[in-house]
Parts: sequence; structure tokens; C-alpha cells
Amino acid sequence: MLTFRELRDMLDSAGIAMSETTLSDFDPPRAGLGGVFPLPRGSLQTAGIEEDLTSNDVVSADGRAAFPEALQEFSTGALNVHLLELLCCRGGCVMGAGMSVELPPFARRAHVSRQVQSQRASFDRAAWSVEMEQLRDLPIGRSFQTASQSMPTPSADEIRTIMIEMGKVGPDDELNCGACGYDTCRAHAVAIFHGLAEDEMCLPYTIERLKKTVQKLDLSNTKLASTQQALVQAEKLASMGQLAAGIAHEVNNPLGVVLLYAHVLLESCDKDLPQAKDLAMIVEQADRCKKIVSGLLNFARQNKVVLLPTKIADLVSRSLRGVVPPVGIEVVVDHQDPTASADLDADQIRQVLTNLLTNAVAAMPAGGRLTVRSGANQEQVWFAVEDTGMGIPKENMKRVFEPFFTTKQMGRGTGLGLAVSYGIVKMHRGNIRLKSNADASAGPTGTTFTVTLPRFERREESMSFLAPEDEGREDAR
Ligand code: SF4
Repeated sequence: MLTFRELRDMLDSAGIAMSETTLSDFDPPRAGLGGVFPLPRGSLQTAGIEEDLTSNDVVSADGRAAFPEALQEFSTGALNVHLLELLCCRGGCVMGAGMSVELPPFARRAHVSRQVQSQRASFDRAAWSVEMEQLRDLPIGRSFQTASQSMPTPSADEIRTIMIEMGKVGPDDELNCGACGYDTCRAHAVAIFHGLAEDEMCLPYTIERLKKTVQKLDLSNTKLASTQQALVQAEKLASMGQLAAGIAHEVNNPLGVVLLYAHVLLESCDKDLPQAKDLAMIVEQADRCKKIVSGLLNFARQNKVVLLPTKIADLVSRSLRGVVPPVGIEVVVDHQDPTASADLDADQIRQVLTNLLTNAVAAMPAGGRLTVRSGANQEQVWFAVEDTGMGIPKENMKRVFEPFFTTKQMGRGTGLGLAVSYGIVKMHRGNIRLKSNADASAGPTGTTFTVTLPRFERREESMSFLAPEDEGREDAR
């Protein structure tokens, strides 16, 4: 068999350019109606044979599906015919895969018909009869030997493996839609086995894969955005920490002097004198300043972290003893593992717990429930402080760890408690997370802070959450 594409290649390799040749008819002997061979039933028409639908003597079958079926039926005797015209391409050779022109299929067919008609107009039947007579004894028979070129048949397991790779796990996945060019999914799988097709040719499979890729990208984008947000927050806290450290250093010493002299004066002053009250006020306010400075130093990690084995349950009960909840607040403690311990700086983590407990109590002026939970696995310990208070409005959620941010009344809070807690947790290379609902219509209001810390990471040196190698900050809110 020779395709038009192969014919063009042959002409090219022989240096024959079609555009430079002159069109001429075939050399004699003429083929008569042979020009219609590329069309279905063309050979029958050329031979003057008609496909008689009533006699079944002559049958023409064309197309990839029809011709093997006709052969199959012929081999079993179900199709008893004298002449079987078989064309692999449905619609004849002009519709076949080896065509090298881009014309629409039926325009090609019209071209062939027109060409044959123009040849017929100048057809010399007498000359043709003479030529045919001269060639009557020309042997045109062919004999063939069996040389099977059939490809190996894939086993059921091999087909199943290919089908699974195409996402066709069960019968419901086999849509047999034909979008790949094969009539069934199994036929497509067989073609893949023979290296004649790719699984991407399955349209539903490709669409599904694209969908999954888009979903993965979406997820990565979301993670990226949240990491970026956490980085911005960490950087903001770092600059504030540096500023706080500078101010605290400058103010700490003169403040110590003011406090010392104020205390000396107060102690030496007669309690009945009116100046005693003024001095008491100076001492109280200077003490408050001292606390703020100490908070700033903590926030700016001026203290060392000394990690020692510490039982979480003990830490919780000691912290709870320091925060006396008012009447109306029920306290619930739930330790998943009451014996769990971790290498921590107990004083610092107790400060975190105290801050969280104090905030939780302050969030429930009308009473409620304060729950402290803890748990541990091989690598981490965690504790959570949960209140049923008014919750934190969404707009404030991102700011709660900022230094000096507070929603408490003037004089009631320094706005350093959570910032300091954040710093301490980061120095322990842990994370602190916040979950809160302030909208009663969306469910019960309240806030939960969860602190997660590495369990057995022993580091004696001073650590800094401002250090560039800071880890885990993406989880901080
Ligand atoms: S496109 Fe996919 S689903 Fe449709 S027949 Fe081909 S393999 Fe089956």
C-alpha cells in the first residue's frame, strides 16, 4: 500500500517538484473508471458489478469497525458472499489517514468525481478495447504467504494496570465516550499497550487531572499567602522588639533610681502628713512603670531560656493558683496525660499561662467557664486555655500579639501580656494559635489560645525569637 504522503515523499527524494511539472493523463492502457477506486464501491463500479442488496453476492464494507467485522463473519461462514470489497478508511481512501491535503473530506470526494468525469468525456472506448485485448493474457494474479504482523495481546492484568493509570478503577469509570478516537476505553488501553496512544488522549481523564492540578495550585497559593502574612507579622514584631529593647534599656536605670528614692522618702515620711499620699502615688505609678519596662524587656527577649524537665500538669495548677477566678467562673482542667513533661523554662511558660488565664478571666465579666486542656505526643506538648467570654472581634484578631494593643480599660492593662507570651513561645521554638468567635449569631462566643512546644529540645543558650533562624513563625497569629 502506498499513501499519498509516501508518494509525495518519494517524489521529493527523487528531486521532483510537483509545482514544476506539467499535468498529463496516465499512460495507456487507460484505466477506464479506475479513477473511482479511492471511493467506496469504486472497484465494483469499475468492474461493472453492482452490490445487490437482495442477492448478498457482493458486499462492500468500509471503516475501521465494519471491515474487521465483515472479515470475521466471512471467516465463520455467516457472511456467504462471492465478492467482498473492504476499505479500512470509512468513506474510502480519500477520507483516510494517509491523505496529505487539508481539504474537507467531501470536497476531496468531489475532486475525484470531477476528475473521472473529465476523463470520461475524452474516453476512446474503441482504443481502450484494443488495448484490453492486447493485454488479455497478462498474468495479474498474486499469491501471498502468511506473515502475521499481529501485535501481542495484552493480558487482563496489563489492561487493568493501564486502565487504573487512566483513572478507570471500576466499570462506572469506563465512559466509552469515544473522545480519544477509540470506540471503548479498553480499546484505548490496548492501543496504549502497543505504544500507539497516550493516556492524555482520554479527555475525561485529562480534565480530571487538570482539575486536581488547579486544586493543588490553589492550596499552595493559600499556604503561600498565609506564610507571607505570618512573615509580615513576625517582622513587625521584630522591629517593635528592637525598639522596645532600646527604650527599656534607657529607662530602666533612671526608673530604678526614682523608685529607690521614692521608697526611701515614703518610709521616712510621717504617714499622717498629706505628702505621704503623694509619695505613695509616686511609688505606685513608678512600680507600674517598672512592670511595663520589665514587660518590654521580656518581649524583647532580654532574658535567657533555661530548659529543664517540667511537668505540664504542675505548671497549670501553679498558674491557676496565682489567678483567683471570681465567683461565677467555673474552672475545668483536663489533662490527656497528667504525667506528660517537657524541657521548658518553667518560669517563662508559667508567665504565658498566667497571661492567658488572666485574659480569659477578664473576657468573662458576667461569668462563664474557663477550661485548661493539655496533651502530648512523642515530639510536642500542648496546652490550651479556653473561655466562654465575649470573643475577639475579627478586626482585632491579627493585632492581639502586637505590643501595647489592648481592649482593656485605661490603666487596666499594658497591652504587653500577649506580646510577651508570643516572644516566650517563640524563644521555645513553639507556636501559639488563636481561635475566637465574637458573633453570637454564628455560635457560642469565646476564645481559645493553644500553645504547642517542642518536647525534648535541650538548649541552654540564650535564644531569640528575633533571630533570623526563627522557626515556626508561620503559624503564629
Ligand atoms: S476518551 Fe477516555 S473515557 Fe472516552 S472512550 Fe476514550 S478512554 Fe474511554
